[in-house]
Amino acid sequence: MTRSVSQAEQYLDKCAWAYYLRRVEGVTPSPAAWSLQGTAFHSAIEVFELEGRRLNGDSTVELFSEDYSARARKELAREPDLNNWLTAGPDGGTDIEARYVLGRAQTGAYVEWAKDHGPRLWKDADGRPGIELRLQANIGGVEVQGIIDQLVNEPDESVRIRDLKTGSTRSRLQLETYAVLVRKALGLKVRKGDWYMAKKGALSRPLDLSTVSEDEVGQKYAKMDEGVKRGDFPPNPGFSCRFCDVARACTFKRR
Ligand code: SF4
Repeated sequence: MTRSVSQAEQYLDKCAWAYYLRRVEGVTPSPAAWSLQGTAFHSAIEVFELEGRRLNGDSTVELFSEDYSARARKELAREPDLNNWLTAGPDGGTDIEARYVLGRAQTGAYVEWAKDHGPRLWKDADGRPGIELRLQANIGGVEVQGIIDQLVNEPDESVRIRDLKTGSTRSRLQLETYAVLVRKALGLKVRKGDWYMAKKGALSRPLDLSTVSEDEVGQKYAKMDEGVKRGDFPPNPGFSCRFCDVARACTFKRR
């Protein structure tokens, strides 16, 4: 079975029981407006970058709005009770409206930032830019796949892994995994990674990925893979239960 960063993080760092409920039992996750915001932002930026940054801010913001609205309508049809939507505080309806406004502002800010700073995206042999690149490789004996938001050319001919974030959570394992995937699947040098933080409209400090090894990353995937195959899914009730999208099906939930 192919593994991913989100599987490894959920199993190793968050709650293995949530992994079980979602991926083994097939519990339908509760909707959350932050997911709509993140997905619609990525989708609008992907079009903007694939079009060679020729779209203006307003057109790109409209792409975000259309995508967000379509996804919100779909999720509302699936779960019309807004009390069952996950939020970080406000009621479900207020959160959907607030994140629509926030996502539009973040999309417009990215367009300005990209036009001002002009990062040079890596391109493959067919000239397709390194955006939302789906890669797969065997890492430490486990098949791992990932979708890399952006690959950016560096002056020293290496590439930089860039992940776009609409929230605050950053995953070191994600950048480390992508560095190994890019080396193995594309044969490119990777020395650094960073996050574009949409909340700030700016890049994070770069993360040094030059010494990240396949062995080191592979051990994490092997640990998760073995645990899943053993049927070992220890619950980890705590603060994260509040943001857990399968909490409604969980008997260990901390209230
Ligand atoms: S509610 Fe808490 S204990 Fe239950 S699956 Fe979610 S994170 Fe784990």
